[in-house]
Amino acid sequence: MRIVADLTKCEGLGMCEAMAPDFFEVDEEGTVEVLDDAPGEEHRGDLTAAVDACPVLALSLQG
Ligand code: SF4
Repeated sequence: MRIVADLTKCEGLGMCEAMAPDFFEVDEEGTVEVLDDAPGEEHRGDLTAAVDACPVLALSLQG
Protein backbone atom coordinates (compact mmCIF):
# COMPACT_ATOMS: atom_id res chain seq x y z
CA MET A 1 0.00 0.00 0.00
CA ARG A 2 1.21 3.48 -0.83
CA ILE A 3 -0.03 6.89 0.25
CA VAL A 4 -0.30 9.36 -2.61
CA ALA A 5 -0.72 13.07 -1.85
CA ASP A 6 -1.64 15.51 -4.62
CA LEU A 7 0.17 18.63 -3.45
CA THR A 8 -1.56 20.74 -6.09
CA LYS A 9 -4.84 20.11 -4.23
CA CYS A 10 -3.69 20.16 -0.58
CA GLU A 11 -4.74 23.30 1.26
CA GLY A 12 -3.00 22.48 4.52
CA LEU A 13 -6.20 22.00 6.46
CA GLY A 14 -4.61 19.35 8.67
CA MET A 15 -7.46 16.84 8.85
CA CYS A 16 -5.15 14.03 7.76
CA GLU A 17 -2.61 14.93 10.44
CA ALA A 18 -5.36 14.92 13.08
CA MET A 19 -6.55 11.48 12.00
CA ALA A 20 -3.17 9.80 11.46
CA PRO A 21 -0.35 11.92 12.95
CA ASP A 22 2.25 9.19 12.44
CA PHE A 23 1.83 9.47 8.68
CA PHE A 24 0.99 13.09 7.88
CA GLU A 25 2.45 16.42 8.93
CA VAL A 26 1.48 19.85 7.67
CA ASP A 27 4.57 22.02 7.18
CA GLU A 28 4.96 25.78 7.72
CA GLU A 29 3.96 26.43 4.14
CA GLY A 30 0.65 24.70 4.69
CA THR A 31 1.42 21.65 2.60
CA VAL A 32 1.11 18.09 3.75
CA GLU A 33 4.19 15.97 4.11
CA VAL A 34 3.78 12.20 4.01
CA LEU A 35 6.05 10.80 6.71
CA ASP A 36 5.91 7.17 5.58
CA ASP A 37 4.50 6.60 2.12
CA ALA A 38 4.66 2.79 2.22
CA PRO A 39 2.89 1.80 5.46
CA GLY A 40 2.02 -1.72 6.55
CA GLU A 41 -1.43 -3.23 6.10
CA GLU A 42 -2.17 -2.89 9.80
CA HIS A 43 -2.54 0.86 9.30
CA ARG A 44 -5.14 0.66 6.53
CA GLY A 45 -8.07 1.53 8.81
CA ASP A 46 -6.50 4.71 10.17
CA LEU A 47 -5.19 5.72 6.77
CA THR A 48 -8.53 5.18 5.07
CA ALA A 49 -10.11 7.43 7.71
CA ALA A 50 -7.45 10.08 7.07
CA VAL A 51 -7.86 9.89 3.29
CA ASP A 52 -11.64 10.15 3.62
CA ALA A 53 -11.28 13.15 5.97
CA CYS A 54 -9.41 15.30 3.44
CA PRO A 55 -11.93 17.94 2.35
CA VAL A 56 -10.24 18.60 -0.99
CA LEU A 57 -9.68 14.92 -1.93
CA ALA A 58 -5.91 15.36 -2.13
CA LEU A 59 -5.10 11.93 -0.69
CA SER A 60 -5.44 8.40 -1.97
CA LEU A 61 -4.19 4.93 -1.17
CA GLN A 62 -2.81 2.69 -3.88
CA GLY A 63 -2.50 -1.02 -3.56
S1 SF4 B 1 -6.45 16.90 4.92
FE1 SF4 B 1 -6.07 17.20 2.74
S2 SF4 B 1 -5.91 19.42 2.52
FE2 SF4 B 1 -5.66 18.95 4.66
S3 SF4 B 1 -3.44 18.79 4.98
FE3 SF4 B 1 -4.23 16.75 4.60
S4 SF4 B 1 -3.98 16.46 2.39
FE4 SF4 B 1 -3.84 18.65 2.78
